[in-house]
Amino acid sequence: MLLDIVKYGSAVLRETATPVPVVTPDLVRLAENMLETMYHAKGVGLAAQQVGRLESVCVIDVPQSCEEDDETKAFNASVKMPLVMFNPLIIAKEGSQDGKEGCLSFPNMGGKVVRANQVTCQFTDAAGRMQIITVRGFLARAVQHETDHLNGVLYVDLMSAVEKLALADKLKKLAKKNGGNL
Ligand SMILES: [Zn+2]
Repeated sequence: MLLDIVKYGSAVLRETATPVPVVTPDLVRLAENMLETMYHAKGVGLAAQQVGRLESVCVIDVPQSCEEDDETKAFNASVKMPLVMFNPLIIAKEGSQDGKEGCLSFPNMGGKVVRANQVTCQFTDAAGRMQIITVRGFLARAVQHETDHLNGVLYVDLMSAVEKLALADKLKKLAKKNGGNL
């Protein structure tokens, strides 16, 4: 089932998600619907707040073609897509990368964000098993972007002042249309 994607300006994007104690069938269904919605919108990640929910869950599917180099592809190869992550927590970060990022809650927009190049993330999968993955490159960027969402943090918060200034008018218009929350 396709869900409505919440856009910038909506208050829910600034709320913090609540950890889920148990992965119930209803939550698995929510994650499946989030994946369907993400693929339909041609995104590579989606977090609960973006569909108006506050359970700590995000989904990610970064194709290997998104990675810049073969070394990163090889490093990430053991991580099976799509990722369905309940209660994700980044437990280690290493290095840095500077690259362009977009978000389904900010249609037709994008900007540069500095992120860690490698992250280790602990989460509960759809089967209720605890997992720990270490990923690099664009996939690491996606993991950071989605876990930020679950904490009410948006990628525009992390852009440089210059980068954000370039988007200021667009951001203001988008926020105004969707509830006015910045
Ligand atoms: Zn996003």
